[in-house]
Amino acid sequence: MDTVLFLACTEADGSLGRPALEALGSIRPRHVGLIGRNVCCAANQVASCGAVRFLGASGDEFAQSRYSTDCAAAEAIARASGATIIVAPGTSRLSRMLPGLAHRLGGVIDTHVTAIGSDFSVTRWYYRQRMEAVLARTARPWIIVADGGSAWSGAPGAVTVEPVAVEMPSLRTTVTGIRTPETGVQTIRPDARLLFVAGAGWTKKQQDGQSHVRDAEGLILGFLGRTQASLGGSKSLVDLSGEGEAVLPFMTHLNQIGQTGATPRHPKGLSTCCHGEEPHVVGWRFVTERRAVNLDANCGWARGKADVVYVADAFAVMKKVNELLG
Ligand SMILES: Cc1cc2nc3c(=O)[nH]c(=O)nc-3n(C[C@H](O)[C@H](O)[C@H](O)COP(=O)(O)OP(=O)(O)OC[C@H]3O[C@@H](n4cnc5c(N)ncnc54)[C@H](O)[C@@H]3O)c2cc1C
Repeated sequence: MDTVLFLACTEADGSLGRPALEALGSIRPRHVGLIGRNVCCAANQVASCGAVRFLGASGDEFAQSRYSTDCAAAEAIARASGATIIVAPGTSRLSRMLPGLAHRLGGVIDTHVTAIGSDFSVTRWYYRQRMEAVLARTARPWIIVADGGSAWSGAPGAVTVEPVAVEMPSLRTTVTGIRTPETGVQTIRPDARLLFVAGAGWTKKQQDGQSHVRDAEGLILGFLGRTQASLGGSKSLVDLSGEGEAVLPFMTHLNQIGQTGATPRHPKGLSTCCHGEEPHVVGWRFVTERRAVNLDANCGWARGKADVVYVADAFAVMKKVNELLG
């Protein structure tokens, strides 16, 4: 029988973040292994997850993401637990280190797992979420890196964390700070009810022969501010922004929806000034209710890719919508 270890790093405030709880939601672990400056809060947070042991690698060295220390800590925890299956969330911190952990343990690893069955068959997508496969492995230890899903919820409690001795590597890397892309405004909101997608049409010449990028910026940010919708973009638009053109400065490649972009899960989506090309629409597969505004009655959305298409000028539509929203 397999021994399951749930492995996670704590957030800066010592808690377990949503990706960790989502990974935990798909299993019933025998052991919980935590890495962070202080892991007691996180252990108490998931006290009722059914684990019999809570193992921790804690201290200032483990406060921040660093391959050498995170991997050494994870290896010590994995060995102390004797786990044959290790489930971890696919955060950037853990994703950087888990392949190295698999190598050190002589094990195997699968990433982007979307579901874990009770028999440890795992589900994952291939070819940008066009094909779904269910697979199992006999090799152990097996590291399963889980994508987001339904978060675990349960009562907190008080547990005793067993400290794990970590053979510390020589520390050649010092974390001096964190830099994030300068988007200026927080526009990606995975939990929003609505995905608002802007296409390259916002930057194109309009009926008067001029482009109206500043107006577009005001309308889009005005709508996002009023609705707290999440902002997506077509590849054409985010490429323009990335090339330093004077267009929608808050748009980055992180906003891109589509085959080579993100596949977010929002109940509703509104596409504006975007043609509805297949590689873009691939990213909408989990958006349940789709609407689009396009001047072109023959755009891609009109060919079965949206539930409702408004053949209209998005500048006029969004101006009116913002007025109605107040
Ligand atoms: C391998 C591959 C992968 C790709 N992956 C992606 C991907 O992940 N994501 C992605 O987005 N694209 C992707 N693409 C590119 C994709 O095929 C399209 O080229 C791109 O999405 C087009 O962007 P767009 O619709 O914003 O711009 P355009 O095609 O330029 O369309 C602009 C639209 O705006 C409309 N418009 C203009 N003014 C107004 C107005 N005032 N009111 C209303 N409508 C207006 C026009 O009618 C037009 O339909 C990929 C392509 C390839 C080959």
